[in-house]
Amino acid sequence: MAPPSRHVNTRWRPCNTLKHTLASTSALSRTEGGVHVGADGLTVTSPALMWVKALDLLLEQMKEAGFDFSRVRALSGSGQQHGSVYWKKGAATTLQQLHHQRSLSHQLKDCFSVHDSPVWMDSSSGLQCERLEDAAGGAAKLADITGSRAYERFTGSQIAKTRDERPREFQDTERISLVSSFAASLFLGRYAAIDYSDGSGMNLLDIRSKKWNEALLEAVCPGLDVLLGKPMPSASVLGAVSSYWVRRFGFSDTCAVVAFTGDNPASLAGMRLQQGDLAVSLGTSDTVFVWLQHARPALEGHVFINPVDWRHFMGLLCFKNGSLTRERLRNRCADSSWERFSAALRQTPLGNNGYIGILLLFLIAPILPSFLPSSDIMFLGLYFDVMEITPRAVGVHLFDAEDNKVSSVSAEAEVRALVEGQFLSRRLHAERLGYSIIPGSRILATGGASCNKEILQVLCDVFNAPVYTMDVSNSACLGSAYRALHGVLDQSDVSFFDVTKEAPEARLATTPQLHAHQVYNEMLQRYGRLEKKVLQELRS
Ligand code: ADP
Repeated sequence: MAPPSRHVNTRWRPCNTLKHTLASTSALSRTEGGVHVGADGLTVTSPALMWVKALDLLLEQMKEAGFDFSRVRALSGSGQQHGSVYWKKGAATTLQQLHHQRSLSHQLKDCFSVHDSPVWMDSSSGLQCERLEDAAGGAAKLADITGSRAYERFTGSQIAKTRDERPREFQDTERISLVSSFAASLFLGRYAAIDYSDGSGMNLLDIRSKKWNEALLEAVCPGLDVLLGKPMPSASVLGAVSSYWVRRFGFSDTCAVVAFTGDNPASLAGMRLQQGDLAVSLGTSDTVFVWLQHARPALEGHVFINPVDWRHFMGLLCFKNGSLTRERLRNRCADSSWERFSAALRQTPLGNNGYIGILLLFLIAPILPSFLPSSDIMFLGLYFDVMEITPRAVGVHLFDAEDNKVSSVSAEAEVRALVEGQFLSRRLHAERLGYSIIPGSRILATGGASCNKEILQVLCDVFNAPVYTMDVSNSACLGSAYRALHGVLDQSDVSFFDVTKEAPEARLATTPQLHAHQVYNEMLQRYGRLEKKVLQELRS
């Protein structure tokens, strides 16, 4: 929801209340962590009515707290990506005729043909994924059209599975929403369009033409376009809130509903990522978000239509071997101390050119930057403790300067080999998706490891761009508020960045060291070669 001013009021903060409210409603719905896991261990669903109950509770709590709904000029929101909601025949009429004296959950309880919605954690639609890739002419072709190869959690294969396994319920469906457009529909009192950005997480939308791909729709279900409705730009004003909200909570009848989007696109908006920027979340896993001017989808990662400028794109990459792998090496090589781990990074030179370099540095560190342009012994590590997503590889692979595999190096060199290897991999795969570092590029670091100055320095050097840190604990929520404001002002052609220019800025953490550019440009090529070699070995 957005404050009623032109610029973002920095004293006003959206909060994560819906998540907390969901926690209490999930207990009522007898879910665990908000989901039901099927007996096969692959099917994961959430009751759609649980989300409705959460919204009921949240709004009631805000009303009790004295929130002045009449001052809300526009609202938007975000939902977990990929999940799908199946509206039963006749539900549109119920939505339109909601009675303001009754709760939403009471009135909508019979409105879902499929009560348990498949969510992003589901991985039970492998068969349907194969069919989608076949219909497109292969995985690479599907990725090229929709931004991603077939993924089981993506909505296209989920809809196909529902049609295959629950034909009666599917027959009784008049509309299919994403979780985001489902929530927007509740505010609108009619079915809300799926926005371009969240629509890109379905394996059905052509990310260039912005239209559903007919062959893919046909492969899932003939006539699916009617069930999905026409997709719209993410900044679209879909209409005003329905009379239910005006009469029950005191919203203004002109309060605009701006298209809702997925949580990842909303986070990109919350971080106010711009062209040339890359955001990296250094959490349990590492996640990379990038602003892309052109779409160059690959077999790994995802390209979505950009949520704040539909002419551009965003890239999303997930890496499973993030902080947990750094922790493993911290425990083994740095006596379980982040301080010692950081010291190892301080003591080893850019490019990790080995023991000789370290000894020299001790002697002449006061007059030399911590860089020696030598390629004597350049250790490079590819650490995949668990099966990696980007790329699909497993195992620890440590190389010397001649690209020979080595089994052990000094503790300090191994720490640097890990961290450099991780960030070279983030850069390599981001560039493969179409990202390039341009003058003015910023790296936004978030997540647990972003408090570690030395890790950030390596990140900064590998990308040769300044690193900023920011608190993004509520970035999807904040991004929704920014987008609501942008949506209502977009009619006058103001850019998203003009609208949010008074919002708090990220803090500069560090800038690249001298020569970083040279060292890592070269090393990136080498990393690409070694990764290819490892993948070939794993396949043979
Ligand atoms: P998530 O939200 O994915 O659960 P967080 O963003 O909270 O994770 O990050 C947690 C991770 O941060 C931990 O696994 C830990 O390894 C890492 N971490 C915490 N402090 C430091 C530090 N000083 N240096 C490096 N990594 C750290």
